[in-house]
Amino acid sequence: MGAGAAGGVLALELARRGIQVVVLEAGPRHDFARRGEYVRRYVRHENPWQRSPRELDRYTVGGPVPYQLEGRRARGVGGSTLHWEGYAVRFHASDFRLRSLYGVAEDWPLTYEDLETYYAAAEESLGVAGAADEPWASPRSTPFPLPAFAFSHSDGLFAPPARTLGLGLHHLPQARNSLAYAGRPQCRACGTCQVCPTGAKASVDLTHIPQAEATGNARVVTDATVLRLELDGSGEVRAAVYAGADRIERRLVARVFVVAGGAVESARLLLLSASREFPSGLANRSGLVGRFFMSHPAIDVIGRAAQRVHPYRIGFSTAMSRRFAIERDRATQGAFLVEFLNSAGPTPEGIAVASGQWGEALRRRVQGEFGHWLGVRVYTEQLPDRVNAVSLSPRVRDYFGSAVPHIHYSVGRYERRALDDAKEVAGRMLAMLGLTDIRSTGLSFAGHQIGTHRMGTDPRTSVVDVDLKAHDVANLFLVGSGCFVTASASPPTLTIAALAIRAAGHIAGRLRPASGGVAPGPPKH
Ligand SMILES: Cc1cc2nc3c(=O)[nH]c(=O)nc-3n(C[C@H](O)[C@H](O)[C@H](O)COP(=O)(O)OP(=O)(O)OC[C@H]3O[C@@H](n4cnc5c(N)ncnc54)[C@H](O)[C@@H]3O)c2cc1C
Ligand code: SF4
Repeated sequence: MGAGAAGGVLALELARRGIQVVVLEAGPRHDFARRGEYVRRYVRHENPWQRSPRELDRYTVGGPVPYQLEGRRARGVGGSTLHWEGYAVRFHASDFRLRSLYGVAEDWPLTYEDLETYYAAAEESLGVAGAADEPWASPRSTPFPLPAFAFSHSDGLFAPPARTLGLGLHHLPQARNSLAYAGRPQCRACGTCQVCPTGAKASVDLTHIPQAEATGNARVVTDATVLRLELDGSGEVRAAVYAGADRIERRLVARVFVVAGGAVESARLLLLSASREFPSGLANRSGLVGRFFMSHPAIDVIGRAAQRVHPYRIGFSTAMSRRFAIERDRATQGAFLVEFLNSAGPTPEGIAVASGQWGEALRRRVQGEFGHWLGVRVYTEQLPDRVNAVSLSPRVRDYFGSAVPHIHYSVGRYERRALDDAKEVAGRMLAMLGLTDIRSTGLSFAGHQIGTHRMGTDPRTSVVDVDLKAHDVANLFLVGSGCFVTASASPPTLTIAALAIRAAGHIAGRLRPASGGVAPGPPKH
């Protein structure tokens, strides 16, 4: 279930191995030929990917900090990769070992070294552009498939103070084509990346799903929302019950089921699939399905330059620093990643609308004000907290009459210390550039939903094992960032893809025992 990053990557890996795959996707197939229309909606600040009935996307929030999902996920073939920014960053080796190194949270049941070749395969399949210039990066066995994008004008301004402060500005790896790659064109720097009109940004509707379908082994059923998973008498999943806009229930029977609906919807589906055998939700004997929900709390710090600094020319960021994503003492505060923004401060239309002016006065105002702001965005690592959880709303129902997800969320001292530290570091850097009016925006959150079916070796403290198989159900796999044990400060999707490629080997092995099983290793494409 789910044709996003996790489901798309997994479908291709299984189809390539000759396994028959059916992907049930709740949303539509967004026609690439209509991307121009989608760009226009994006430019008008509408949600370009909203095509399904809105009642499908309902949710409720609670807790001290409401975590809103609007603009933080997308429905359809491609899932949230339709909408993502394309930053494709490997986790650092330390991200997998917070308990051993800092005495907080838990270690993952695998290490960076276990995942390294799968990261390489994920980079190749997404087409990641980067350079091995990050001093803090964990070792790589392969070069990036594509050369890095050139640093921008503002990266050049940031470089000297970043060097003085030991931040070490380096390239930000991107799943977008710096050169034509895999049948998709070179990026044209048009800057509407949440809807890429050219296909230069990797999204699995363009990369993995068509290749999976081309094998003849994979079929995607759109407008197919999985409502629940049903068990057979032996405690394995027998059927996925799904429905489309007509609300008529249909059944898909299979040998193995994979849930890949994103961390919120995957947990919700398990909770909706409660039965006599699993009264608290499918695969939930631990009581942990939905728990340990995490994201990346974020802030921007910006300042005004006397001279023009030429923002909004590229549209995506080309540089970052991971020094503090790795070298901070993570026993007491979260790590943080610094993204050097190529688009900071008000846009020309923002200045125009706020000015209330017309004609020549308006022209002078926009010309005088635009292009003077520099800024950085900081993403912080969030610790897993049992209280932060996705559960079923007792009150609100969706289009199909199913309970909607309820997200209880808070930001603790660990994350707030990281945000304060990050503000201080960023503020010092902007001051060194001679900027004035330095300020930070309010707390925001990345569109990264993490936790909710964490992996581990102990079925009492985790939901899936290291191969992403549910501890409690022999033929059920849960993929996506829901299985992450901790959040890292780096974006999640390359790790989602690497774990899905790894899981594919194990799923294939389970489905083909007669042939001696398929060796679980990264594929040679
Ligand atoms: C604006 C934005 C920017 C982002 N930028 C980055 C970035 O730069 N770098 C990065 O690493 N990550 C980024 N992300 C996050 C990234 O998009 C996600 O981590 C990734 O797509 C998650 O993959 P997934 O397969 O788990 O879920 P998704 O990609 O969300 O896919 C889940 C799919 O399952 C479907 N589904 C859900 N429930 C059901 C159901 N019951 N039945 C059938 N189908 C169902 C959904 O319709 C969806 O298509 C960004 C996200 C957003 C929103
Ligand atoms: S800058 Fe334009 S072409 Fe490049 S990835 Fe973004 S939207 Fe696509």
